[in-house]
Amino acid sequence: MTIVPIRQPIDGRHRPMFIGGLWVEAASGQTFETRNPATGEIIATVPRGGRQDIERAVAAARNAFVGPWSRFKPHERQKLLLRIADLFERHWEEICTSDTTDMGLPIARARGNANRVLGMLRYYAGMATALHGETIENSLPGDIVSFTRKEPVGVVGAIIPWNAPTAASIWKIGPALATGCTVVLKPSEEAPLTPLLIAELMAEAGVPDGVVNVVTGTGAEAGAPLAEHLGVDKIVFTGSTLTGQGIVRASAGNLKRVSLELGGKSPVIVCADADLERAVPVAAMSVFANSGQICIAGSRLFVARSIHDEFVERLSVYAASLRIGNGIDPETEIGPLISQRQLERVEGYLRAGSEEGARLVTGGTRLSQGALAAGNFIAPTVFAGVSDTMRIAREEIFGPVISALPFDTLDEAVRRANDTPYGLAAGVFTRDLATAHQLSRRLQAGSVWVNTYHAIDPAVPFGGYKMSGYGREGGGEHLGEYLSTKGVFIRID
Ligand code: NAD
Repeated sequence: MTIVPIRQPIDGRHRPMFIGGLWVEAASGQTFETRNPATGEIIATVPRGGRQDIERAVAAARNAFVGPWSRFKPHERQKLLLRIADLFERHWEEICTSDTTDMGLPIARARGNANRVLGMLRYYAGMATALHGETIENSLPGDIVSFTRKEPVGVVGAIIPWNAPTAASIWKIGPALATGCTVVLKPSEEAPLTPLLIAELMAEAGVPDGVVNVVTGTGAEAGAPLAEHLGVDKIVFTGSTLTGQGIVRASAGNLKRVSLELGGKSPVIVCADADLERAVPVAAMSVFANSGQICIAGSRLFVARSIHDEFVERLSVYAASLRIGNGIDPETEIGPLISQRQLERVEGYLRAGSEEGARLVTGGTRLSQGALAAGNFIAPTVFAGVSDTMRIAREEIFGPVISALPFDTLDEAVRRANDTPYGLAAGVFTRDLATAHQLSRRLQAGSVWVNTYHAIDPAVPFGGYKMSGYGREGGGEHLGEYLSTKGVFIRID
């Protein structure tokens, strides 16, 4: 293990990982490549971390948890989070560029996330000094005082997907710093670079050694040992439902706490009275943003039959107008898919849609002309004539594909919208206040957006119903996920 300065030692295109305040290589010495999905170019190699590296990182996180970090007062953790937020603000362009080159996010969209990400850090900073237990009157004989304490759960293993590396990292690390936990973060093997940059900036801001560790590697080699590890007190996971089920099984060894942000197949209901000027672009971007690689994608679009044909027509015109290309161009609205594998997966759904009888209205193909040839680009796609049983209407595609489904009554729309194993999010477009309230009550989803979509705020809980997971990110509940409650009784008579 070599000791190096805080700033990442970038040797050519190689980036080490961060354990216990040191930039280190994998114990195996192995590395893997990460590519720019817009160009296919290899942009870096990173360590291929495995079980031994996870051991090392968990030990570093435990030492920090019981050591110097445990003596940080809430106001000191608050100051640290505020310093991190300020440093992130100064390095925001570097962070955005990292997300754009490593996972394809259009830079304009990355820049637009500033308030959300910096807001999260500042929200957690505020919450660091707002954690408290309660004094509770009891009915016991004698004079016994009873109260609760909120204590950090300990070492948190955080496992994240590729589609939003900055926000996902901050959503996991921010509450850990606010509550006094320590973290071992395992980024996606598809997009490991921004989490390494984040670790670097956190160290620069003064996060003590071992409080935040980043182990790069695959799910099987680094993620699974982290999920199983008996020295990890909690796993916070964002990713697919299938992997989430494996995480729950892996957690059984020490019954560690788990919170899961999983997949979705979210419905959007466009009522006959909707304001189409607003509904068309918002419904379109509910899926096309980030090339459909968004867990909350409103990919099942239920449209009132009386406006269905007009809506689909306007939607397809909008889809065809989107500027597709390398996200580093500030004019780009739609970037590439993360990998060749994801491209092939989405192409499989495009074929399935046509084979099962859906009508392709626009898109439906890979884009490979000119500068797009080396990247993983798919045209924003709209299918009409979709039935509820088709694969494109049931399975999470994670690509820029919308299925339009007409409906006749609101009862029918709600029943069909809820007929899915998922329950992450739902959208409604209506001008009628009663409909807005009724549908927001009846839709089985962790977030319901009316006349908007993608509204996510650090103060408002976000998470899934049903197989979209459990636990919440955002709001006081989020901090609660990183805390244990202890009941204390003291006899004073
Ligand atoms: P994924 O489940 O394949 O991988 C997610 C992470 O888990 C990666 O870091 C991966 O290396 C790791 N992993 C894989 N196998 C593992 C194992 N056996 N043990 C431990 N870790 C393992 O998901 P993905 O393909 O990277 O991301 C797309 C999925 O993430 C979609 O289903 C999407 O809906 C979901 N997602 C959900 C949210 C949310 O907030 N609900 C947000 C973003 C993405």
